[in-house]
Amino acid sequence: MVPLKLSELISQDDLQTKVTEIGKKITEQFKGEELTAICVLKGSCLYFADLVRSIDLDIQCEFFGVSSYGASTHSSGEVKTTLDLTVPLEGKNVLLVEDIVDTGLTMNFLKKNIEARMPKKLVTTSLLFKPAALKTECYIDHVGFEIENRFVVGYGLDYQGFYRNLPYIAQSSDFN
Ligand code: 5GP
Repeated sequence: MVPLKLSELISQDDLQTKVTEIGKKITEQFKGEELTAICVLKGSCLYFADLVRSIDLDIQCEFFGVSSYGASTHSSGEVKTTLDLTVPLEGKNVLLVEDIVDTGLTMNFLKKNIEARMPKKLVTTSLLFKPAALKTECYIDHVGFEIENRFVVGYGLDYQGFYRNLPYIAQSSDFN
């Protein structure tokens, strides 16, 4: 593993507080209804695991694999499906859970892909959002934290497959 020079950006406590807050809002938004929550692999695995446990609804958990960075630290602009959903979404309330919106290309690809499956309602959340990196208009219903345009790892986000298990978000001074 190539070690990165990292500094903490968002603490474990701040992550938990924010995830609980977003979970409460989503619970209110879909009160009395069922929800299909989609974890976008692999980066949103930890956010998803904490978020679904903060939502007090009957939730069906599903997994959608996409890849846009490869082994690089910059988005390739090309989004590939690596694992498709296995359930129909027609007529369902869907929550799309992303780790980070950078250029916005992945989120827009996912929204288009899910809308085409005719859900009743689609709500999106991204733990992190880099407004300065956007290359296209991209609306997200629930954003955890807006951050600067720096490469970050931890809490599910990786560098070459590593650092996903850091319990906090760290920023790297090795790139940009
Ligand atoms: P976008 O399509 O918005 O450019 O990129 C979205 C995907 O790129 C995210 O789901 C994430 O996997 C990856 N990504 C974007 N920014 C970062 C970052 O700062 N750190 C890491 N580890 N991944 C990122």
